[in-house]
Amino acid sequence: RVILQNVKHVFNNVVAITDISLDIPDGEFWVLVGPSGCGKSTILRTIAGLETTNFGKIYIGDKLMNDIPARKRDVSMVFQNYALYPHMTVRQNLAFGLRMRGVKHHLIQERIAIVAQSLVLEGLLERKPKQLSGGQQQRVALGRAIARQPKVFLLDEPLSNLDTKLRDNTRHELKELHRSIGITTIYVTHSQVEAMTLADKIVVLQGGKIQQVGTPQTIYNQPANRIVATFIGNPP
Ligand code: ATP
Ligand code: MG
Repeated sequence: RVILQNVKHVFNNVVAITDISLDIPDGEFWVLVGPSGCGKSTILRTIAGLETTNFGKIYIGDKLMNDIPARKRDVSMVFQNYALYPHMTVRQNLAFGLRMRGVKHHLIQERIAIVAQSLVLEGLLERKPKQLSGGQQQRVALGRAIARQPKVFLLDEPLSNLDTKLRDNTRHELKELHRSIGITTIYVTHSQVEAMTLADKIVVLQGGKIQQVGTPQTIYNQPANRIVATFIGNPP
């Protein structure tokens, strides 16, 4: 469970997000949408501990996170410009976070097999990142984050560099994977299709504020205001 209570973040006098309150139950898939600059990445970075939270409270499980450093929060974040370790093979990249946490070798290999299968990376495990296409690298970055089996999974436009077909495929894989392992996921996207097909709940943001939280059906059929309606393309 991830809870944000009245979280606000200010970057040198500019309010990036304000009054953000969310209560995300275990295992759900929530999608953040809204125009560029509305605060989506800031919300993820705040949950990950990459920004200090001076206003409001963040809980993961029932633990207050405000003073917990990023490396001690049980979250994995995938950025839009993912970075793999160039000198390591795909297998080593996938194993890295697990090795760091002392997971046993055979368990690591087991998890890698599962992740590689769901993200279609099986044939690529012994390659180095530079021997992969951009889309393949992005799937490895996703796989590496998933393999760690964090409590919370934070994805910032993880499919943005993929072509349409790969994007559709990876979206389906991601949905299947989420169905099977059920990690609480917060996912940022500009894509209506991704939001509508992946989300248990959609959070629509504008100007650093939440405009509406609801199921895809609610957001689509009962948009709270014009901003939400515009996003989902169904004006009242
Ligand atoms: P996009 O869809 O373009 O990725 P976003 O919704 O992720 O946008 P954020 O990156 O969260 O938006 O930015 C929210 C606001 O905070 C913007 O006004 C942005 O200019 C500002 N901002 C973000 N990071 C910083 C920073 N490091 N320093 C100053 N201002 C920042
Ligand atoms: Mg962003």
